[in-house]
Amino acid sequence: MAEQEASGLQVLLSTLQSSCDKDVLLNILSVLTDLLSLGTGRRIQYVISKGGSEALLQALISAARTEPPDHSILLPLLRLLARVGQRDRKFGLKVQKAEATDVILSLTRQNLGHHLNLTHCLWVLRVCASNVTAGTTLGINGAMELLFQVITPYSKRHIRTVRAAIEALAALLKSKSNSRRAVNRGYLGGLLRLYQDWHQNDISNNYIYIRRGLLLCLKHITNIQLGRETFLGSRGMEILFTSVQDCLSCKNLDPIVTTVTQILRKCYPSEPLPVVSVRSSYSFPLPGNVKTESPCVGFEDDYESDGEEEVEKDLDKGDDYDLETDVNKLRSRPVLDRPEEELGQYEAMCLELFHNFQAGPDPGEKNFKVPLQSWTNKEKCRRDIFDEERDIEAIQNTDSREEENPAKSHVFTLRPLPKEAAWYKKTFNPESEASTDSSPGEKLETSDTLTNLLEEHQENIPFHNPHFYIARAKCIKSIPAYKDLAFPDFWGHQPLPCGKPMLERQYGVQRDKVLDDVRRLIQPCDVIGRTVYDLDEPSPGAPGCLTFFSKFESGNLRKAIQVREFEYDLIMNADVNSNQHHQWFYFEVRDMKLAVPYRFNIINCEKFNSQFNYGMQLVMYSVKEALLGRPCWLRVGHDISYYKNHYRCRAAAGGGMRGRYYYTLTFSIKFPHKDDVSNRPDRLELLGHENRPYVFLMARVHPGESNASWVMKGTLEFLVSNDPIADLLRKCFIFKIVPMLNPDGVINGNHRCSLSGDDLNRQWLKPSSQLHPTIYHTKGLLYYLRSIGRAPLVFCDYHGHSQKKNVFLYGCSIKETLWQAGCTVDTAVITEDVGYRTLPKILDKVAPAFVMNSCSFLVEKSRVSTARVVVWQEMGVLRSYTMESTYCGCSHGLYKVSKSSKKKPLAHSAMNLPAFLHQGLQLGTQELEEMGSKFCLALLILHLKSLPCSKKVMDQAALLLDLDEEITDRAQRSVMVLFRGFSSGRSSMEIISYREDILQGL
Ligand SMILES: [Zn+2]
Repeated sequence: MAEQEASGLQVLLSTLQSSCDKDVLLNILSVLTDLLSLGTGRRIQYVISKGGSEALLQALISAARTEPPDHSILLPLLRLLARVGQRDRKFGLKVQKAEATDVILSLTRQNLGHHLNLTHCLWVLRVCASNVTAGTTLGINGAMELLFQVITPYSKRHIRTVRAAIEALAALLKSKSNSRRAVNRGYLGGLLRLYQDWHQNDISNNYIYIRRGLLLCLKHITNIQLGRETFLGSRGMEILFTSVQDCLSCKNLDPIVTTVTQILRKCYPSEPLPVVSVRSSYSFPLPGNVKTESPCVGFEDDYESDGEEEVEKDLDKGDDYDLETDVNKLRSRPVLDRPEEELGQYEAMCLELFHNFQAGPDPGEKNFKVPLQSWTNKEKCRRDIFDEERDIEAIQNTDSREEENPAKSHVFTLRPLPKEAAWYKKTFNPESEASTDSSPGEKLETSDTLTNLLEEHQENIPFHNPHFYIARAKCIKSIPAYKDLAFPDFWGHQPLPCGKPMLERQYGVQRDKVLDDVRRLIQPCDVIGRTVYDLDEPSPGAPGCLTFFSKFESGNLRKAIQVREFEYDLIMNADVNSNQHHQWFYFEVRDMKLAVPYRFNIINCEKFNSQFNYGMQLVMYSVKEALLGRPCWLRVGHDISYYKNHYRCRAAAGGGMRGRYYYTLTFSIKFPHKDDVSNRPDRLELLGHENRPYVFLMARVHPGESNASWVMKGTLEFLVSNDPIADLLRKCFIFKIVPMLNPDGVINGNHRCSLSGDDLNRQWLKPSSQLHPTIYHTKGLLYYLRSIGRAPLVFCDYHGHSQKKNVFLYGCSIKETLWQAGCTVDTAVITEDVGYRTLPKILDKVAPAFVMNSCSFLVEKSRVSTARVVVWQEMGVLRSYTMESTYCGCSHGLYKVSKSSKKKPLAHSAMNLPAFLHQGLQLGTQELEEMGSKFCLALLILHLKSLPCSKKVMDQAALLLDLDEEITDRAQRSVMVLFRGFSSGRSSMEIISYREDILQGL
């Protein structure tokens, strides 16, 4: 805006306030009107910033005082006020201050018979009411009665006026006291009738804004409990549900459908979950019985604070206020959390420091001086996972050792295969299930049926060894004493050759599902409501419906209720010793009909949003497909949506938290086979191998994050492979790997916790040896390494992320944290090695699913007891990370490149992937495993870049790079990606120096 114009505007505004001359006023108003109607928002904002609203209000008050009021002045004034007020966020407040509410109200009253003036008054009233306090004052002074008079009875005369009145009323009803007043005066019923009248008479949909305005009035009134009760009593649910049916097919009516759906959801009477108790069906006596959970206090059944926009915090996100800003805390190095003498026991886990593993056979068990009560270590057992005979032998050997020395028994007790058994009864001999004795402690048995199946389909079984898996599974104890093993768990999985793109979000899915839920209440005739599976009260399955089953490792279905013929409500079991953490689900269904879409609703989800709303599908495994040679976890499901439902946690249900909401995940599936069995899963091994630096990797502290296990599988298999890069890695590093930190939680179907009901990744500050033994001893081993001056170069904890896309790292940086928090501390005096950024930068180049921009290096207060922060702080590990792999897919990076993207030209062309195949891929096991192997590659590059290398290693690296042509057909192409183009035909020394250049650029 020109300077001249600005000063002109200022003169106008000051004259407006001071002048009493009518002609002058009229002139100013006309100039202002012209200016503002021509102008952009910026000009209005300028007027507001220079006190324009106040000046106009002042002028209005003076003009209204004259008797009789001069409408030639009032009308343009009102028009200007409505215009400016709409843009002025503090307009209501200014009206209050100027004591102009009464003036506006009485002007409105005086003009009831004059529709043009009235409409202008109503627009001003509406902008005033956008401030709740001003709105309340207007309500007290009778504004609503006035407005009601204007909008009733139904009439199509003076549409503009009616519209202005309805919108003003909707604004007033944002105030709770106004809503209460409206209900008490019976306006709610009046609004419903009025809405019906408009709905019925607006056949050509010319008055959508009026109908929507009325709905907004209802929506605001029903924010208070009295409003919802009256709405239900006035048959509001039926009226809106019935009327909206006419609107569903017309896209223009979306605003109406959306608002109706919001009102219906809100007013649907809340209910407790249909379970005997929200507490887990399983409990586990804790050592010392230390933990008591506070019971549910009262039942919060008021939406008062829960209006349109659900302001809920994503606890997973580190908000700025959560950042640690205390420099001393960030820089502190806490003392040992246990007596120093205890560390000696971990020497047994680092035998590589005392023995030469590469020469001769593995050291025998006798050499281990492991004190009682410590872990027995299995790292010596570097078996070939493909060698069945050795597997069985290993089992038998371990077993005999245990008999010799029972004190050494540990979690992974291994026993020989029973000669004859019948374990998979449920799936293959359902009739024998009745005779199944569920006495605790009984182990899985193997059936002839299974043995036959395994023999018959030998060529259809993926690479892994079912016999070995079964043998180990038999030895696993579980709280429910599982006797069945889920088919996919032992049969195995083979990824599809190409990934599956994210599901395109279909329009209106959520709305349709919500309306379908409301229909249960309004048209209950086809609702069956029959419990067909119940963990708490087992009963024989009902005929003519799906048969559910979940009593196997990691299974967690608690209850299934058949709602309609092809629709089921499902309830997940809470984590052991807990009343929450429902997210993971794993169950089996059978007896399905072909090509019928079945709808499943998981009704006790807890997170307020989910990637299921952004393209993620669930995974399913078809037993029939597996037997046909396609054993695969497939992304399936359509009409997927995730939304808040009407179930609440009640005190009576026991042990819940106050005011907890539940969410529904709904999906539909057409099964590929009739009478098929469809069922999530993993189990892995420890691995181990001077002066090489340590790399410490771990995974699956959270049982529901099974994707982390696939990443770990990729890492492990790569490290033990014959790949020359793997060989070099083994020469460069000593790896300490804990593939599953929380096996108990995994086995028993938990989502988040261990058997103590604790989130183990919040126990690192002071883990209890009794309640959190895996954390206690993992930390112990890390303490030990630190105590001998061998703290790891890299520490990484593999996780899965349910709310975010891509694969990324969380790391720790003092400076980045202080900067982000806007801290005034002089960060220049703090020295910090920025080496923590190198590994993620390398990963960004070499791992297609990894995205540097998704990484964060902030230290949040709420995360001080996570592995990442504790290892960084207490062990002084600069490169201490959490690696998060999305449950869903990639929004950036190579798995989400557009065809024209030039982001990673080198990697892209070299990998030779058709880009269009990889747009917004949902990650499958193949991509996750690839992530795990690429992590290893990145470690090697980190080593070459950051550490002095021996000539031997350098030579080997150089040799590797020279192998370009020979290994391009193999999986580890991205090595070439990074080095291709400068490796062939050059001497090693040249290659090394080139490498340095490239690495500098990373
Ligand atoms: Zn996690």
